[in-house]
Parts: sequence; C-alpha cells; structure tokens
Amino acid sequence: MTITQQRLYYTDSTLTEFSAAVLDQFEEAGRWHARLNRTAFYPTSGGQPHDTGWLNDSQVLDVYVLDGEVYHVLDRPLPTDGPVRGRVDWDRRFDHMQQHCGQHILSACFEQVLGGRTVGFHLGETVVTADIELQQLSPHQLQAVELKANQIVWENRAVTATFVQPQDLARFNLRQPPKVSHDIRIVSIAGLEDNPCGGTHPAFTGQVGQVKILGAERLRNATRVYFVCGKRALLDYADKVQVVEELCKELSTGQGDLANSVQKMKQSILTAQKAELRWQQRAVWHEAKEMVRQASVRRDGRNVVCTALESLTQPQDLKSYANAIVDLLKEKGEYAIALVAELDGRVHLLTAVSEGAPFGARDWLQMVMEQTGGKGGGNARAAQGSVQTSPVEPSAVDASDPSARLASEPVNRASEVVNLFKQAIF
Ligand SMILES: [Zn+2]
Repeated sequence: MTITQQRLYYTDSTLTEFSAAVLDQFEEAGRWHARLNRTAFYPTSGGQPHDTGWLNDSQVLDVYVLDGEVYHVLDRPLPTDGPVRGRVDWDRRFDHMQQHCGQHILSACFEQVLGGRTVGFHLGETVVTADIELQQLSPHQLQAVELKANQIVWENRAVTATFVQPQDLARFNLRQPPKVSHDIRIVSIAGLEDNPCGGTHPAFTGQVGQVKILGAERLRNATRVYFVCGKRALLDYADKVQVVEELCKELSTGQGDLANSVQKMKQSILTAQKAELRWQQRAVWHEAKEMVRQASVRRDGRNVVCTALESLTQPQDLKSYANAIVDLLKEKGEYAIALVAELDGRVHLLTAVSEGAPFGARDWLQMVMEQTGGKGGGNARAAQGSVQTSPVEPSAVDASDPSARLASEPVNRASEVVNLFKQAIF
C-alpha cells in the first residue's frame, strides 16, 4: 500500500530542515531515487524548478513527481535503518519564491490593468517569462503594469495558502480553474487575487523585493514578457549601473547624454568609413595605372596585363583592381588581363577580356586551372577561380627523403601561376 507523503512546503515554505523516514529507493544510471514519508523539497512543477540541498550526506540533484509521489534524485544512497535529515538550499528556494510570487502579482496586474490573461510561465536560470494573451503591449502599458505590481509589493500584503474542497470554490474569485478535484490549495494575495497553486510563496508581498520588466517579445497570439524579481532585479540593476559607468567613462559623458554620444560616434564612424573608401579607391586607381604602365605587353595591338598583386586583404579586392585596369585599357582597344593574389593558403585568379577578343575569359582561366588543379568559373568576358598553394601537408612526409621534401614544398605560387597565364596567351 502506498503511504501518502506529507509535503511540508505546503504549510511552511520557510522550513529548510526536517527529518523523515525512507520509504523506498532505487538506483538508475548511477543516481539514487528516494521516496520519503515527508519532505520539504519542492519538486519541479507548475513552472517552478525543483529545490536542491542535502539528505544526510547525499546531495539532492533533482526532485520530481511520479504518480503523485515526490522522488529525490541523489548522488549516493540513503541509510534505511533510521531517519534521515534533510536540508534545503535556502538561497535557491528563496530566489524561486521571489520570482514565483512576483509572477502571481504581475499576472494579476496584467489582468486588472489591461485585461490580459497569463497563458504561459517559465522560471529560468536568469530570467522569468510570462506569456500574456495580448497582441501588442506598448512601453507605456508595460510601465503602468510594472508600477501597479510594485505598489502591491510595497503594500506588503499577506500571502496565504488554504486547502479547500470543490464545494468551497464559489467563495473565491479564481484567476484560473484548479487542476485537482479535491484538497485544492488556494494561494491568496490579500485584496489582489485567489489562485489555485502548489508552489512556494513568501508570507508577505514585501519579500518579493521588486518586480522589474526587462522587455517584451511578440508571439503568435500573445506577448512574452521578460522580468526579474527580488535579488535578481538588484543584481541586474548593479550590472547595468556598471555598464553605464564604463560607457560614460569611455565616452567622457554623463548618463543622460549617453544615447546622444553613441549616435554622434556612429555618425563619425560612418563618415570616416566613407572617407577611407574614397582613399582606397584612389589608391587602387593609382596602383592600377602603374600596373598598366609596367606590365602591359602589346602584341598585335592587344593590351595584356598578367600580374601578381601583393598586400590584398580579401579575394573580392581582385575585382576592384580588375575594374580599374579594365577602365584604363578600354580606351586603348582590345585587352586581356589576368590578376593573381595569394591569400590564406590559396591563389585567387581573375581573368577579363574585351569584347571581340579571339579567346574567352573562362577558356583562358580553364587552361590554367587544368594545369594547377584549381576550381572556378565565369563567362566569356570575366572569370574567377582559386587553387590551393600547398597540396601536401609538410608533416605527412618523411623529412629525410629529399624527393619527399621537394613534394612538400608549396606549389602554385602566385608568380608561377602568372607565368602559366602568360604561356597560355602567347
Ligand atoms: Zn504560486
């Protein structure tokens, strides 16, 4: 026969030490699951996470309900020859009490101020969420609800729990129907709400400390409100004060001018970026002119530039150079260019030819790709590709073997690839 457990937190949520008898325990995957005749440990339920703590020398890692009974998950078994002593981690429990009771208050206020029911609740490690059945919530509405919730906290109203039977429910104005059909636990916040709930609450709303809404996010049919209560709100405030202080120091400004200063800084960065881009374009144009002057080879009236570019930071820059060179060569008639640059262990290649040239840019690139093992593509006017510079890992070869050492040397260096382009075209 199952012995009904006594859940001590139902009548005293501040009780942290208790003694109990072990009813049974079993081992599963290296953890021990124990059932006691009475417990002050709160099991995960109703959106509130479980307590942690100790049963004798066994650490309580998890607490859950199975078939109406509370089970404690332990790192080691309990003695069965006498009573065990339980100790609940109060810091964790009190944090959960502050967040959970804060949610009661906030949800009641959303309903009273805006008529929005709470349809979801999650007490997370750092932030708590309540899903409010309202499509849109303005900052002004959130502020009004937050103020009302904190007024309830400041008024230090009594929070009480009573067990009632279904026939007694009529005298309560419940925010939601109970999930159990007998011994219904009603949690009442004086003058605010009566709510069926099995969770842990402080005796007075003042112990919630404060309720701070952090933000809201629109869901399909509701709005998810992020908030923190009590110590979490204080720690969050401390974090924000530190961030504001650091930013004020960095920007040499006061808190009130912070947003304005960041706006100004963003504007000056944009202006500087635009100026830098103009300088880069000028530098590319200047270098392109030099390449055309030095490297162009005239043969049958065709202007040919085959060159390796140094100090490129990204493969896309090849295009900027190609565009500048093409613009310079256009006026001179028929042209063909091949640009090569080594970046991050690869040689990047670009070819471009003028309209009416006797060969296409893609064919030219292809001829070099076949000899180097690279990949790329494009059309008759312009093509791009790349090839690995070091096909053999140096560590994978025997250093004492001269032929192997030769094989490990990086091949397809930019200068070699340039020569291949030249050979292919002349
Ligand atoms: Zn509750």
